[in-house]
Amino acid sequence: MEMPEGDKVLKPGSPERPLRVAIVGSGPSGFYAAESLLNAKDLSVQVDMFDRLPTPYGLVRGGVAPDHQKIKNVVMVYEKIAARPTFRFFGNVMLGRDLTVEDLRRHYDQIVYAVGNESDRRLKVPGEDLKGSHSATAFVGWYNGHPDWRSQDFDLTQTAAAVIGIGNVAVDVTRILAEDVDVLAKTDMAEHAVEALRSSKVKTVWLLGRRGPAQAAFSPAELKELCELHSTDLVVRPEDLTLDEVSKAALEKDPEGRKNYDLLVEQSKKGEGSHERKIRLLFCVGPAELIEKNGRVGQLKLDVNELTPDGRGGIKAKATGKTMTIDAGLVFRSVGYHGIPITGVPFDEKSGHIPNKDGRVLDPQGAVLPGAYVVGWAKRGPSGLIGTNRADSVATAKCMLEDVPALPPGDAEQRTAEAALAVVKSRQPDFVSFQDWKLLERLELSRGQKKGKIREKFTTVAEMIAAIKKAKTEALVAK
Ligand code: NAP
Repeated sequence: MEMPEGDKVLKPGSPERPLRVAIVGSGPSGFYAAESLLNAKDLSVQVDMFDRLPTPYGLVRGGVAPDHQKIKNVVMVYEKIAARPTFRFFGNVMLGRDLTVEDLRRHYDQIVYAVGNESDRRLKVPGEDLKGSHSATAFVGWYNGHPDWRSQDFDLTQTAAAVIGIGNVAVDVTRILAEDVDVLAKTDMAEHAVEALRSSKVKTVWLLGRRGPAQAAFSPAELKELCELHSTDLVVRPEDLTLDEVSKAALEKDPEGRKNYDLLVEQSKKGEGSHERKIRLLFCVGPAELIEKNGRVGQLKLDVNELTPDGRGGIKAKATGKTMTIDAGLVFRSVGYHGIPITGVPFDEKSGHIPNKDGRVLDPQGAVLPGAYVVGWAKRGPSGLIGTNRADSVATAKCMLEDVPALPPGDAEQRTAEAALAVVKSRQPDFVSFQDWKLLERLELSRGQKKGKIREKFTTVAEMIAAIKKAKTEALVAK
C-alpha cells in the first residue's frame, strides 16, 4: 500500500529533513568535524556545537601559550566554519548539567564527543599531593585565564621550581616561568598571571626527563625558544648527551629528534651562561618522591635512570638504584593529560579515552553505540599538534556519513533546529551564541588595547555573561 504524501517518512539528510548533528566541545577537533560534515556532498546537515564555557576554541584559547600567538591564528578557519548558516554555537551549555545525553539523542541523529582530555595523568609517587605540587594543566589554565583555574594560587616566592616531564607542555610551563614578564604582558596572558609572574622569585627551573635526549617529547621549535630566552640560561649537562646504540639508530630515522639532539649539543657547549636565572635540563632522572619541608614540597628525590631496550624496538628508563635530591619549592607535573568521564557516555578509566573503533563509540560490551562518535584527544589520547586533529576528525566524519543511510528517522517533530533551541533556552537561558561570543571578544580586544596588550580575557563565567548582557542592553538603547 502506498503511503499518503503527507505521511511520508523523510530520511535524515534531505533538504526537508536535514541530518542533525550535535558536537560536544568546541576545540579544534570539534570544529574540524563540523567542517567535514558541513562539506558533505548531496547531504543537508545542521550542526549544533556545545561548550560548557561561554567561549569557544578549547585548548587554542585555554592551552596554547600566550607567547605563541601565531598558532592561535588557526581560529580564523573556525570562524569561517561558524559563519555557515547551518552551524550554531551554544556556549555556557554543559552536557551533564544543562543537557543530558538523552536530550541530545532526542534532538539529534548523531552526537560527536569532542571533549578532549581535561584532567592530568598522575605520577603515583609519595608526596604528589603536597602543597606546592601542581599539575601543568592547572598552571596552563591559570595563566591562560581559564575559568576553572582562575583562583589557583602558585607560590612564586619560591626560588626553585621543578617541571617533571619533557613534552611540549613541560617546555611551555618552563618558558613561562623563565620568560621576561614584559614580553608576556603584551600577549593575551591573563592579568592575574602577569602580576604574579612580575614578582616571581623563581631563579632555577629544573626540567626533568626520565629518559634520554633522543627520547625527548618536545619539538625542536619549542626547544629552540628555551635556548633563546632573553634573560635565562638553558643549562644542559654534556654528560647527558652520550648516546647508546639504540638511541643513535633511532635518531637516524627521526629528523625532529636529530634536530633536538643537535640543538642540545650546541647548548651544552655554552655551559652555565651569565644570567641569574637558569633552566637546568636533566635527562635520565625519574621522580621518586616529593619531600615535605615546612608543610609544603621542599625537595624532589629523583631516581637516576639508565636506558635499556624495551623489547619492542624502543627504549625504556630503568632505575639504577642511585638517587639524587634537588631543592624545589614548586613542582609542576607535566606527564600528559587524562580524560574526564561524562554521565551517560562510555569511558575507559585506564586510558582516559572514550572507547571507540575508528571514532564510532563502543559500549562496555565492545559493541558500536549507534549515533555516538568521538574525535580528538577523547578519541586517541593526548597527542599530536592542532593540525593532527584535522585528519582525525575527517576520518570520524567519514564513518558518520557512511552510517547515515542506516539511521532511524527519529521523531520528526523533535529532530528540528527549533525544538533543540527550545530545550537549550529552557535549561540554560544564559546560553552564548556565536554572535554573543564575538561581542565578548570585541570587549576583550578593546580591554587589551587599552593596556597595550593583545587581549584582556574575562576569566570567570559570571563576568563573561554579565559583560555580554551589558553590551547587548547598551546596543539596544543605542538603537
Ligand atoms: P607528551 O608529549 O606526551 O609528553 C609527556 C612527557 O611526560 C614525556 O616526556 C614523558 O616521558 C613524560 N612522562 C610521562 N609519564 C612520566 C612519569 N611517570 N614520570 C616522568 N615523566 C613522565 O605530553 P604533553 O607535553 O602533555 O603534550 C601533549 C600534546 O600536546 C603533545 O602532542 C604535544 O606535542 C602537544 N603540544 C604542542 C605544543 C606546541 O606545538 N607548541 C604545545 C603544547 C602541547 P616518556 O617519553 O619517557 O614517556
